[in-house]
Amino acid sequence: MKINIIGGGPAGMYFAILMKKADAGHEITVYERNGPDDTFGWGVVFSGKTLANLRAADEESHTEITRAFAAWDNVDVVHRQEKISIHGNSFSGIARLQLLKILQRRCEQLGVQLRFYSEVPDLDSLKVKCDLLVAADGVNSTARRQYSNHFQPTLDLRPNRYIWYGTHQLFHGLTLTFRENEAGVFAAHSYKFNQTTSTFIIECDQETWDRAGFATMSDAETRGYLEKVFAPDLNGQPLLSNNSKWINFLLVKNDNWFFENVVMIGDALHTAHFSIGSGTKLALEDAIALFESFDSCASVGEALKDFEKTRKPVIEEYQAAAFESMNWFENARDYMNLTPIELAHTLMTRSGRVTDDDLRRRDPAFIARWEKAEGSRQ
Ligand SMILES: Cc1cc2nc3c(=O)[nH]c(=O)nc-3n(C[C@H](O)[C@H](O)[C@H](O)COP(=O)(O)OP(=O)(O)OC[C@H]3O[C@@H](n4cnc5c(N)ncnc54)[C@H](O)[C@@H]3O)c2cc1C
Repeated sequence: MKINIIGGGPAGMYFAILMKKADAGHEITVYERNGPDDTFGWGVVFSGKTLANLRAADEESHTEITRAFAAWDNVDVVHRQEKISIHGNSFSGIARLQLLKILQRRCEQLGVQLRFYSEVPDLDSLKVKCDLLVAADGVNSTARRQYSNHFQPTLDLRPNRYIWYGTHQLFHGLTLTFRENEAGVFAAHSYKFNQTTSTFIIECDQETWDRAGFATMSDAETRGYLEKVFAPDLNGQPLLSNNSKWINFLLVKNDNWFFENVVMIGDALHTAHFSIGSGTKLALEDAIALFESFDSCASVGEALKDFEKTRKPVIEEYQAAAFESMNWFENARDYMNLTPIELAHTLMTRSGRVTDDDLRRRDPAFIARWEKAEGSRQ
């Protein structure tokens, strides 16, 4: 088969790897507008379950990924100068650039053609020259825009503002920190992803953002302001910018996932709020699901139908849980009157996917402490 892929992010490259590995006869080209070392973002996170999926799909890249990552098992909630740790939540982090380099090497090893600095402004000419066109071109997908009459996308720009930073302060575990000042409430999502660096995402509502005056602040002023807000947590370490900008989360859904020989995967197809796990995990698992459909179906048409039929319910369930989590953070201000243990409990159960019984299994001491606090309130 001749396969053209737009986007050399995790979704596009991982699909190329799996297809080429299964049949070296496939002619696969990945078109990427950026260079091999250009990237945004800091670390990406995977659950233990995702890593098991990656291992089953491609042992070689899994070995490289796990060699490079930082692992932890706790979620820490910081509120009113108290840190509460909840154990039994297995996650690991890796630098996005390192992940992309591992996937690039694997593509090259297998004979996938990676064309960097190749912007695809119009997909029609690539579509007619191949058996399959995969649009893995990210959240601002050209394919989704160009073929919107086929895909029927819904784009929902959410009200909260957020910004991705890095820092050399190490957060050993997924740490959710809440700080209040005269402007309002700020939440930080942070985790270390190698021996020296952590991701540090800061989120706040529009009123807080307006009152803080970020609209007229430079990059350095913004970082200075936020370093003050999170001074007790950053331990004197600065926030590191990587072209970091305030953005609003864009919730993407599509009624149709493919038409003719064109299919979307990854962020182009769907997004899930970062508070529930990374888009990278979903991007890689999409690639696995699409590959499995090709593995079990005889034609492109059948495979694309099978992909949408099997993967869509999984994504819808995931997006529903992510929506609850996003909603929680959009209303974080309403929870600030809770005690640290109460806040930790509502956070752990916010998506509806984790119950008290799950928490009891994962961390009996935490649930016992919460039940005791609840008991004394009644
Ligand atoms: C600013 C920002 C920072 C982020 N940081 C993190 C982070 O630290 N950790 C984390 O887990 N997640 C992060 N994310 C989310 C994460 O990047 C995505 O969920 C994940 O990368 C999705 O993978 P993908 O392969 O679908 O898309 P992407 O990784 O976005 O890859 C799409 C690729 O397509 C290329 N492309 C797009 N259009 C064209 C075109 N027309 N022609 C050629 N190439 C094209 C892009 O250059 C890009 O390389 C961040 C997102 C944003 C917006």
